[in-house]
Amino acid sequence: MADISGSGAEPIFKEQNFDYFLVLDFEATCDDKVQVDPQEIIEFPVLKVNAKTFEVESTFHQYVEPRVHKQLSPFCVELTGIIQDMVDGQQHLEAVLGDFQKWMQDEGLLNEGVKFIFVTCGDWDLKKMLPSQAKYFDIAYPDHMKSWINIKRPFTDVVGQYPKNDMMEMLQKLNIAHTGRHHSGIDDCKNIAKILRGIALKGYCFRCTLSL
Ligand code: AMP
Ligand code: MG
Ligand code: MG
Repeated sequence: MADISGSGAEPIFKEQNFDYFLVLDFEATCDDKVQVDPQEIIEFPVLKVNAKTFEVESTFHQYVEPRVHKQLSPFCVELTGIIQDMVDGQQHLEAVLGDFQKWMQDEGLLNEGVKFIFVTCGDWDLKKMLPSQAKYFDIAYPDHMKSWINIKRPFTDVVGQYPKNDMMEMLQKLNIAHTGRHHSGIDDCKNIAKILRGIALKGYCFRCTLSL
């Protein structure tokens, strides 16, 4: 991987406007060629990435039991690798959001002066998925989940082309090996974090790309 320090030592990243990046990638109920309604989050993974080192410092990861379409479709199981046993008996979204808030507290993310921003691949997670489920079930969620970096935007800034085919195309263009299972939320987060680091290595300074 490129080293912009020129000395073969630790790579030097540009100073960022944030202390931490929170890489998030939901998986949700789905089916082949039909829109599941309401669509519900079934995997909620977040990686805490240090903005000085671009290393993952901590992980929040829970599977979530859906309320309406409780039975995962064979298509959804095949796509995400999430089997019925992984969601049955898990907490529903509001409890998971509560645990996530506690994790953020424990990680010092909610301390005064600590600056963080969510990072997603596309705008679907925080523009569509979470708001629509929150509205349907009347669940409140914190304002800090209403601003984010869509990693496709900074990728476009450094590569010069908006990725048509999502995460895999970004990894390929940045010469980063894909690891894990595509469409597993936690594995997708790890790969998005590698893309984030790959873009940072090009001397990029990240900014919020969208707010609700
Ligand atoms: P991803 O983060 O790309 O793994 O996708 C997030 C969610 O979008 C998945 O859990 C599915 O609910 C939905 N999704 C992704 N790809 C497809 C697809 N090809 N067909 C139907 N739903 C999909
Ligand atoms: Mg995704
Ligand atoms: Mg995913």
